[in-house]
Amino acid sequence: MNELDEAKKRFLGAAGKIKATYNNEPDFKKLKLPLPPGARVYVFCEACGTQYAVDLTVANMLYFLMRQKDKKLPDLEDFSGHYLHVKCCAFCNAPDNAEVELRKITD
Ligand SMILES: [Zn+2]
Repeated sequence: MNELDEAKKRFLGAAGKIKATYNNEPDFKKLKLPLPPGARVYVFCEACGTQYAVDLTVANMLYFLMRQKDKKLPDLEDFSGHYLHVKCCAFCNAPDNAEVELRKITD
């Protein structure tokens, strides 16, 4: 890495990450698309508007975070008709936030 790149990295911080704009709304048409092979549920990031699919392991991890807050939530293996709504993701520069919500995919 040259000096210019170093400086850029220093000043821009999360270089290469999507800039979080917050308050994005999911596109339900996209959430209704068939999941890629191996994926179990879609995740939508409110901060950057990115939608991505995760497998059951990641889905359960996110669901586990939700259950930390709401102990009454039932065991869940089937996420159909739902997506996970998050406040930050690995693709954007939103500050870390463990808040996850299971939301219904509506019209
Ligand atoms: Zn994001």
